[in-house]
Amino acid sequence: MSEQHQNLAVIGHVDHGKSTLVGRLLYETGSVPEHVIEQHREEAEEKGKGGFEFAYVMDNLAEERERGVTIDIAHQEFSTDEYEFTIVDCPGHRDFVKNMITGASQADNAVLVVAADDGVAPQTQEHVFLARTLGIDELIVGVNKMDIVDYKESTYDDVVEEVTQLLKQVQFNTEDASFIPISAFEGDNIAEASDETPWYDGETLLEALNSLPAPEPPTDAPLRLPIQDVYTISGIGTVPVGRIETGVMNIGDNVSFQPSDVGGEVKTIEMHHEEVPKAEPGDNVGFNVRGIGKDDIRRGDVCGPADDPPSVAETFQAQVVVMQHPSVITAGYTPVFHAHTSQVACTIESIDKKMDPASGEVAEENPDFIQSGDAAVVTIRPQKPLSIEPSSEIPELGSFAIRDMGQTIAAGKVLEVNE
Ligand code: GDP
Repeated sequence: MSEQHQNLAVIGHVDHGKSTLVGRLLYETGSVPEHVIEQHREEAEEKGKGGFEFAYVMDNLAEERERGVTIDIAHQEFSTDEYEFTIVDCPGHRDFVKNMITGASQADNAVLVVAADDGVAPQTQEHVFLARTLGIDELIVGVNKMDIVDYKESTYDDVVEEVTQLLKQVQFNTEDASFIPISAFEGDNIAEASDETPWYDGETLLEALNSLPAPEPPTDAPLRLPIQDVYTISGIGTVPVGRIETGVMNIGDNVSFQPSDVGGEVKTIEMHHEEVPKAEPGDNVGFNVRGIGKDDIRRGDVCGPADDPPSVAETFQAQVVVMQHPSVITAGYTPVFHAHTSQVACTIESIDKKMDPASGEVAEENPDFIQSGDAAVVTIRPQKPLSIEPSSEIPELGSFAIRDMGQTIAAGKVLEVNE
């Protein structure tokens, strides 16, 4: 078993088989949660039956869903020979985009499930577009429910062609996508090559998951540590806490907090209640900086090296995708932007270009408005200082969600920051 970790999104149209596939992956990799195994043992003993069936996994997932438990398919974990996978929320789940941007669960790669009997459907398109905008590297396309279409090669080829067209339209590099004919329900081409598809000699789904590229630890990028909270701890003093997104923090480093614009030397770093000399991406740390008081810094500040401080945007240009907005968005609209640990009201100063989601090309210069389903390049002015980075330089700090009326209405990534 490997220690290498991958956050995996499972995306696709409703009813195309995402939950079933996750259940199948848990089952085939022996990663079914202990409580499910326990439950099955008891049931099997009562009924005098043996064997651990896939049906039990599915029953359990279905039951959790019926009870309205949010566990659903998100946050399930399974291990292959190469990686430990965590399934992150999938689009459509209530807070997917917000979690993906502000939470710990940025997906590295994704499995797109497309039912062979239905082909590309509206959410297939939407999710692929979102996946590309949010920086998914590689896509494994599972053409699912092959059992329903009698494992016909021609049906599979048609769906592959249709999905390939879609990927090209959203400018997803089709070389970074692999296609597999599967049945999540029957288990074809998941862990073992299926006898039902003699015409297919490619990878199984587990092989494809194993051959995903390892996510690169962002240790080479400059330090970026968004502050979650600031505490006062007796004997130590002011202790900001947060998760390191990129770079490394060492005792003795000279750091700067932006946009509060203060800084000093790192005196101590603590992780899991122990002092450590340095901390890396993914580490949750509390630390103390010489000369910094509790009122000098706040949640939403980003800590970085004094000689390469986090940028503070006067305005920034971003690509946004409008997911759900009851009416239209025009220049002057001022919703709340969620980026890393900060929440700042920002005005959409101008809508510069509307993109055609079908071709990915500019559809209209300076449109009057955009609405649900649109992708656009916009210029944004934060109403209070906001530290944010171009996504091409520091992807971890270059994306945001736009929330209004208690919902995530749009997501985006930063193209350019004007300081
Ligand atoms: P989701 O909405 O994408 O999570 O889809 P589900 O996993 O809930 O599946 C929707 C329906 O399709 C359920 O009734 C599943 O049993 C069924 N299903 C999923 N995968 C397969 C498959 O490979 N073959 C067949 N025949 N049915 C499937």
